[in-house]
Amino acid sequence: MRHPEALRALLGPDAAPVRRALTDERGVSLPAFVDHHVHLHLVDGERLPLGGVAAVVDLGGDPAILAARPAGALPHVTYAGAFLTTLGGYPAGREWAPPAIVRQITDASSLIGRPGGAATAVDEQRLAGASVIKIVLHHDRPLPEDAVAVIVDTAHASGLAVVAHVEGDGMTRRALDAGVDALAHTPFSEQLDDDLIARAAAAQVWISTLDIHRDDPPAAATARANLRAFRAAGGRVVYGTDLGNGDLPLGVNPRELRALIAAGCDGPALVAALTDPWPVAAPLPAVRTFLRGRPPGLDGETDPVALADWLASARVVPAEDVLFDDDDGEDAHD
Ligand SMILES: [Zn+2]
Repeated sequence: MRHPEALRALLGPDAAPVRRALTDERGVSLPAFVDHHVHLHLVDGERLPLGGVAAVVDLGGDPAILAARPAGALPHVTYAGAFLTTLGGYPAGREWAPPAIVRQITDASSLIGRPGGAATAVDEQRLAGASVIKIVLHHDRPLPEDAVAVIVDTAHASGLAVVAHVEGDGMTRRALDAGVDALAHTPFSEQLDDDLIARAAAAQVWISTLDIHRDDPPAAATARANLRAFRAAGGRVVYGTDLGNGDLPLGVNPRELRALIAAGCDGPALVAALTDPWPVAAPLPAVRTFLRGRPPGLDGETDPVALADWLASARVVPAEDVLFDDDDGEDAHD
C-alpha cells in the first residue's frame, strides 16, 4: 500500500499496511479490538475471535465462573463479576440474571465481611479477579447514595474503576456526583444538558451500546445526541455492544459502528473506540487485528457505511503473523 499517511488519516495513527506471513494476504493491521460490554454467560464467547473481537469486558456475570477461566485464552476477558444493586433492584429476578450474577446490597457498611454490605460485595469481586465494579443506578430502585459512596471508595482504594448502568432521570448526575468512572451505556433515557455533558466528558468513559436501541427510535435518538455532545466535549467513547442483550452478531457489530458514525464518529474515532484497552492500560500484545485489502475511502470519498462494514470484517491474528509492509521503501512503523 503506497500511502501510509492516507491510511492513518482514514483510520488513525495505529493503522499500518501489512502482509500476513501465513497466507501472504495484504491488508491493514490495527491493535486488538475490544467489545467493552458483554455478558459471556448468555453467548458463545469462544466464537468472538472469529468475528474480529480479541478481548471483551464482561459487565455482569458469575464471579466464580469468570475467575475460573483459563488465562491466555481468546477472547481475553476482563470483568466486573456480579452486578451490585439494591435489594430487589435491577436486574435481580430477571430471567437472564441468575442469582449468581447479582449482589443485592442491604447495608452501606464499609466493613468488609458484613453480609449484604457494600464493601463486602466490592471485595468479593476483587478477590474473584475483577478489573471493574459494576453498579446499578436505575430510577425504579437505585442503590442508595451512601452505598454508592462506599462502593466507589472501596473500589478506588483497590485500584478498580466503577462502571454504572444508568437508567432514568437524574441517574447520570448521581453517577457523576458519586465519582463513577464509566457508564455501561450511552445515556438513553434522558437528554443531558451541557453542564452534565462537560462534567461527564472530563471524568468518564462511555461505552457506546447504541445498537441495542435499534427498535426504540426515541431511545436511539437520545443516546445518539448524548454521544455526539459527549464526543464534541472531548469525551472518551469506547465500543461496546451489550452482547447477550437480544440478537447481536458474535463479532464486530457493523450496526454499532454505523450508529457511532451517525453520532459523529469518523474513521479514527471508530478505531480508537474499538482498540481502546479500557479498563486495562495497554492493548493485548500477542494478537493484532487484520483487515484484508484496502479500506473503502482510501483514495477519495469516504463512504462511512462501507467503512463500518469493512471494519466488521476484522480477524484476530497472532502478532507474529503480521509483517509490516515496507516494500515501497517507506517505514510503516512511524
Ligand atoms: Zn449489559
